[in-house]
Amino acid sequence: MPEQITILLVDDDPMTRKIVPAHLKQMDVKFLIAEDGESGLAMALYDQPDLILLDVRMPSLDGFEVCEILKQNPTTSHIPIIFLTSATDPSEKIRAYELGASDYVTKPFNGRELSARVAASLRMQDLVRRLAVQANTDELTGLSNRTAIADHLSRLILREQQENDYTFAVLFLDFDRFKIINDSLGHAAGDELLIAITRSMSQMLDEHYGHHHYKAARLGGDEFLVVLSNPTNEQAVDELAHELQRKLTGPYMLGEHEIIASASMGIVISEGRYTDPQEIIRDADTAMYHAKADGKARHSFFNQEMHVAALDLLMLENDLRSALERNEFELLYQPIHNMETGRLKGFEALIRWHHPFRGTVPPLQFIPVAEETGLIVPIGWWILHQAAGQLQRWHEDFPQWSELTMNINISKRQLIHPDFVSRVKKGLDQTKVKRQCLTLEITESTIMGNLSTLKPVLQGLRDLGPTLAMDDFGTGHSSLGCLHKFPIDSLKVDRSFICNVEKDPSFASVLFAIVTLAHNLDLTVVAEGLETAEQVAHLQGLECDYGQGYYFAKPMSAKDAEALLCKDCDLAQSA
Ligand code: C2E
Ligand code: MG
Ligand code: MG
Repeated sequence: MPEQITILLVDDDPMTRKIVPAHLKQMDVKFLIAEDGESGLAMALYDQPDLILLDVRMPSLDGFEVCEILKQNPTTSHIPIIFLTSATDPSEKIRAYELGASDYVTKPFNGRELSARVAASLRMQDLVRRLAVQANTDELTGLSNRTAIADHLSRLILREQQENDYTFAVLFLDFDRFKIINDSLGHAAGDELLIAITRSMSQMLDEHYGHHHYKAARLGGDEFLVVLSNPTNEQAVDELAHELQRKLTGPYMLGEHEIIASASMGIVISEGRYTDPQEIIRDADTAMYHAKADGKARHSFFNQEMHVAALDLLMLENDLRSALERNEFELLYQPIHNMETGRLKGFEALIRWHHPFRGTVPPLQFIPVAEETGLIVPIGWWILHQAAGQLQRWHEDFPQWSELTMNINISKRQLIHPDFVSRVKKGLDQTKVKRQCLTLEITESTIMGNLSTLKPVLQGLRDLGPTLAMDDFGTGHSSLGCLHKFPIDSLKVDRSFICNVEKDPSFASVLFAIVTLAHNLDLTVVAEGLETAEQVAHLQGLECDYGQGYYFAKPMSAKDAEALLCKDCDLAQSA
């Protein structure tokens, strides 16, 4: 229900102060009356009227001066002003518009004209206000949106600079596994859940914190921001976060499904450290990622180490952009052996980044950054080109190793690139490498997370000639029963399985099941991370086809790999 409209009338003439309200009697408005510019100004700032009727000529502060001050103040600049002028001088009317007035009415007033102009200004004002609300509101939940909450934070930063004891806290919430709900129950159900979550969040915050002391926003997707004004201390915020977590759990009913939700939260207490709302949001986001990495469904407070880590990552990302041009990447090659004969079958290409100051950066540190930034796409082409070219040269230089194979890791971002298959084809067409000697490795979690999109891509790659391996098998939660659905040729069983095989008999029996099923499906099995003779013996016992690991050799330079090929020349023929 909209509140009653308030009009502030500022005029030093008692007659006008009487006539105007009388003319507008029909409109259901409340009048505030000021007798001079100064009190008009004070009332405008304090009462925030919906419209101001402002006399031009007044002693001391005149209407133009009042208007100028109000238009410069962000809290009153939006209030429409209609000048009341007895002047016939057109330059005065022009000045009025120049100062931002909405309209002017000339004295003596015609009652119908006055009410028509007031009504038009109010309608306009209402429209502008509705548009502003729309522009600041998240359509789905009715909460503030990203723009509005950033504005709100700007105001709090200002307040913090002006008031000694004032501070505020920001909670960044991201729901865990929300994508699964969207993917399995559909977007409509996902939206329904977001609305239900918003409702319980608002209810809880209203009860525990008071409606006027917080502001909640949805930033997009399943990300929310809660801003608490002047919390007592860190402990109070901590307790509130716990309570919020408890309340948000649900359960929520979506159709016949009962959903339990959890959120990871990152918290920043401003403590006068910020000048830019985006910096607060960024730090709260960083803290949220730490909460997720710590096991989800929890909250963590932002601290300086997180900031340093985030900065470090940013610098890494910057350096990564130029690493390709500066020729800082190298491929190492790790041998893969036949488990039955012990002989070399081929290599897996593993990238290394020789950073000018950091030394060698391992792939697990920079591949995720390259994935996130999309830099993996050009880097991936370099890897593919380099590894395929190397294999072709080895085939030429060592004819006795004509069946030597090369495994190349492909990451998710590369695979979902729209013309990945056709670009691989083009690349392969340019080399004479034996395609059947190439194996592209894709991790189990990549395949599992994107099966429907990736299936045609995998099929397309396989049709080009290379074989496909599912890498890090056992870490991506696919069930053995699904294996037949994937267009793959081999399984690389993850190191975590292998190193447990002797400690824990249940790993051994699962491994047995994996190898047996894989063989039934015509898949070859490669054991990763073999480090001990016992592990090798165990996997030989299971009839695992190939093995790779420090037991045989660590990843080595191309030169060392060539030395190995030379040394093992006589063994090659029978490999
Ligand atoms: P991955 O493809 O599963 O590669 C095997 C990883 O295990 C390699 O680590 C290798 O050095 C290591 N490893 C091999 N044998 C043993 C062993 O006996 N014990 C232990 N502890 N580790 C062993 P690396 O080279 O650090 O690579 C890590 C991951 O980074 C790779 O896992 C792969 O997912 C990714 N990666 C490496 N090179 C590339 C690349 O060229 N492209 C892409 N997209 N990803 C790559
Ligand atoms: Mg691999
Ligand atoms: Mg692996």
